Amino acid sequence: MKERYEKLRTHFRKGFFVDDKFIILDLNSGILTVDNFMIDVQTVYACLNFAYGESKVRRQGDLVEFYNDLNDENKHRIEKLHVIRASIMQDYQGFYLLYQPVVDAVSEKIIGAEALLRWRNDEYGIVPPDHFIPILEKDPLFFKLGQWILKTAILGAKELMKKYPDFIINVNLSYTQLEKTNFLDMVFDTLEDTDFPPEHLCLEITERCRLLNIDMLKNIIVNLRGRGIRIALDDFGTGFSSMEIVKELPFDVIKIDRSFVMKIEEDMKERTFIKTFAEVSSTYGAKVCVEGIETAGMRHILLNYHVHSLQGYYYSRPVELDKLLQLDTEKNQ
Ligand code: C2E
Ligand code: MG
Ligand code: MG
Repeated sequence: MKERYEKLRTHFRKGFFVDDKFIILDLNSGILTVDNFMIDVQTVYACLNFAYGESKVRRQGDLVEFYNDLNDENKHRIEKLHVIRASIMQDYQGFYLLYQPVVDAVSEKIIGAEALLRWRNDEYGIVPPDHFIPILEKDPLFFKLGQWILKTAILGAKELMKKYPDFIINVNLSYTQLEKTNFLDMVFDTLEDTDFPPEHLCLEITERCRLLNIDMLKNIIVNLRGRGIRIALDDFGTGFSSMEIVKELPFDVIKIDRSFVMKIEEDMKERTFIKTFAEVSSTYGAKVCVEGIETAGMRHILLNYHVHSLQGYYYSRPVELDKLLQLDTEKNQ
């Protein structure tokens, strides 16, 4: 397959004539080995689609084998994905949310939390979201799961608001959810069904949204903000066009990725990055949240910049709702 693909690729790259028009084509391709035929075709398709997407977006058309470098785990993973996918249809069995507090940078009091998805079953244990979301997010079923995540997070937030009246719940979105025509209705209906105040909901999107039509995206964001919902840009700084997206779209919050704070205690250059990011964000009227705070020293340094809120293991790992309700750091009493 690999040899054939390279031959095809060379052929199309050299160009060929169709009638009197000379055409040059670029190809993209994904490959997957399946030897367990109990796996449903939709899971196979989701895995192939993922490999194809990687080939197109990140690998300039190289043939991408689905998790080629994790050969042994490969089979395991497809089987696991098959089970996870089936769980969505079985009333979201095994899915649950953890909540990681977000604290005010100055007072260190809890002002909100981010809902983070997990899946668990007896065979595979607890599976973190990056093992399945990137592969399943293009699956039509994922929209249903997104709806479940939003509703569950909101119901959790209602409990948390009894303790913290100004509490804001952050919910992550995949760009594929936004592309569905009924996305806005889904969000507004969920708010109505749960009788939840929109100002207490913050939807996090990532730069991957740039894959969508920018006018459509702008329209969605304007509509959500028009109802009072906040919008955050997640993982700021990790992609190729972070600055551009900040210029193009209105955000309430910009979340700076933990990769930019990991070394701020030792490395002056890293601090310059944060300073610049924080300045850019405030120029566009957004508040800055920094993720991945693991030490008091990190927070101390960040106090010098325009940082509004903090999130990280130093305050708390993602925890179950009950634990967050009990979590009374000294600062929150
Ligand atoms: P994210 O939205 O940027 O979430 C932050 C991730 O950083 C979480 O990983 C969290 O556990 C981790 N983290 C927080 N503080 C620290 C720290 O101090 N040190 C370290 N080392 N890590 C920290 P998690 O829960 O594994 O989630 C990974 C990603 O999966 C999330 O990144 C988000 O992009 C995605 N995700 C999670 N839940 C959902 C969801 O419900 N829907 C969608 N579409 N994506 C989700
Ligand atoms: Mg997030
Ligand atoms: Mg993030």
